[in-house]
Amino acid sequence: MDLSKKIREVQDFPKEGINFKDITTLLQDKDAFQYMVNKLAQELEDLEIDIVVGPESRGFLVGAPVAYKIGAGFVPVRKPGKLPHETMRYEYQLEYGSDVLEIHKDAIQPGQKVAILDDLLATGGTVLATAKLIEALGGEVVSINFLIELAFLKGRDVLKSYHVKTLVSYD
Ligand code: 5GP
Repeated sequence: MDLSKKIREVQDFPKEGINFKDITTLLQDKDAFQYMVNKLAQELEDLEIDIVVGPESRGFLVGAPVAYKIGAGFVPVRKPGKLPHETMRYEYQLEYGSDVLEIHKDAIQPGQKVAILDDLLATGGTVLATAKLIEALGGEVVSINFLIELAFLKGRDVLKSYHVKTLVSYD
């Protein structure tokens, strides 16, 4: 199945000049959704993943069903102030300003094998911050998997020390 046909492109969202990749059209299509989850799960086969981590919020939509499929736990990484228990935070730079992500301190045990799943790789900043949080807790990031990659933004360069796979790539 060609998943790129199921992804809607929305011009000038959320601001002018951005061609937003809208995955809601893929998720609402039962065959495409199942195909996506199965494909991502296949890529994680044999890696003995303990935990799938998904960054807020579309990482939840992609990561949780894949975690279920491969028999792993699911851990959310969230924007500040959303997680109720003790958290570890990581601040990272954006083009203008900075952003913060948090994880529960007890979400990952040292030595656990972790896969990060998200919908889209752009600059790689979100997932790199997520990887830093996992590593700070002692987890091992064994794979980073995306549905979509915006290859022209070269996010892979930022993630070059990791194993990165994507299902659909835009040049
Ligand atoms: P990065 O940190 O790699 O620059 O940005 C990736 C994050 O931004 C992902 O968590 C993703 O959900 C979001 N994102 C950026 N652009 C798009 C887009 O065109 N479509 C979707 N679905 N998400 C995007």
